[in-house]
Amino acid sequence: MRTGRKKDELREINAILNYTENPNGSVLIECGNTKVICTVMIEEKVPFFLKGKNTGWLSCEYSMLPGSTLTRKIRDSSKGRIDGRTQEIQRLIGRSLRTCIDLDKIGEKTIWIDCDVISADGGTRTTSINGAFIALSLAIEKALKEGIIKENPIKHKVAAISVGIVNGEKLLDLEYTEDSQADVDMNIVMNDKYDIIEVQGTAEGETFSRKDLNEFLDLAEIGFKDIFKLQSDLLEKKEIALSTDNKNKLKEIKEILKDSRVEVKSKSDVGLDNFDVIEDKDTLEGNAEVKARSMKEKISCGVLADDTGLFVNALDGEPGVFSARYSGDHDDEKNRQKLLKELEGKTDRSAYFKTVMIYIDENNEKFIFEGICEGEISTEMRGEKTFGYDCIFIPKGYDKTFGELSKQVKNKISHRSNALKKVNEFFS
Ligand code: IMP
Repeated sequence: MRTGRKKDELREINAILNYTENPNGSVLIECGNTKVICTVMIEEKVPFFLKGKNTGWLSCEYSMLPGSTLTRKIRDSSKGRIDGRTQEIQRLIGRSLRTCIDLDKIGEKTIWIDCDVISADGGTRTTSINGAFIALSLAIEKALKEGIIKENPIKHKVAAISVGIVNGEKLLDLEYTEDSQADVDMNIVMNDKYDIIEVQGTAEGETFSRKDLNEFLDLAEIGFKDIFKLQSDLLEKKEIALSTDNKNKLKEIKEILKDSRVEVKSKSDVGLDNFDVIEDKDTLEGNAEVKARSMKEKISCGVLADDTGLFVNALDGEPGVFSARYSGDHDDEKNRQKLLKELEGKTDRSAYFKTVMIYIDENNEKFIFEGICEGEISTEMRGEKTFGYDCIFIPKGYDKTFGELSKQVKNKISHRSNALKKVNEFFS
């Protein structure tokens, strides 16, 4: 039963976007202890009744894992049939989501929504609808980007919440112990114009009046406000600016963050083409912070900056923070030659690249992300000489230098990509 939660208060809702890789959109949504994985996949065909009509379809399947309930729930596949409750819920989810999308805009495609409950503590159908809308939005966003769909078909948001009467009190968002004792149990689905999509209200013990019904809708609206805000916050793309002049870095960072909730802007995108910062600190963190903060002072969106160094163990960590100007000049060739010379006759050639990324958000709060790539320094230059120490650094587990390896391989294992993976998680 409810402890520490007001009658008109939702349980805490959390969501991890793009929770699984393969679907067009996916989310793990948690409402208290109820947890559902919602995935959306777009299929290039429609049911027979829509063939040739140049319109699409949206359908849903819902299921509960055996371990989602207190006692093991037998899989439908073992029973050889879908039970009535499952049918009812998947139809509700499908109907609800069909109201928010203009299916004429997607062509002859079927959008499949799958809601799989991994932990059930009441409100699995409402949580499924709230998550399905998020996963659907992600799938549409991706399909638009990939050109699979030409025009955004989403008309409005959709959310669902339960209300009920338990021990004579009207409660919002029932958890299992409340739901199982409820005299009245109601699931309400609305869009963000607060139009009703569906009301499933049942008198389990006591009947309820017309006045009660109005009060239920008012109570539900309190919850809907929070759910719609959460959906907006989760789906909104944040703009962040990158404090670098290096075009390759910008490209690499944009690529790694392409599925996150951020849009990476270059210095020129935010009107700071000629803005330069002197990196005069003696730590990577210090330099990254000075780059991020000084740019943040000029713009309102968050700023991401990085600083990288190559740390060679036999040289007590040199060149480290001075990697770009090791030879005294900002000259990659001279820097490499100096390093090879310093290592002549040394048996220990182990080294690592370290990147520190600092993000200063809209409120000037600082977040730090680090990435390391271990390896060793080769005895001679091998491969492309376009970037820094690439042609003399052999990453661990490989026998080629970064200069010899493809960009794809480097981008998978590099210090910068290891730091960016953390940035990506932060923004996802
Ligand atoms: P920055 O902070 O990213 O500009 O890195 C400082 C210096 O470290 C660069 O000027 C390069 O010499 C070196 N460096 C950073 N990342 C790499 C890399 O991925 N490969 C080779 N050298 C790098």
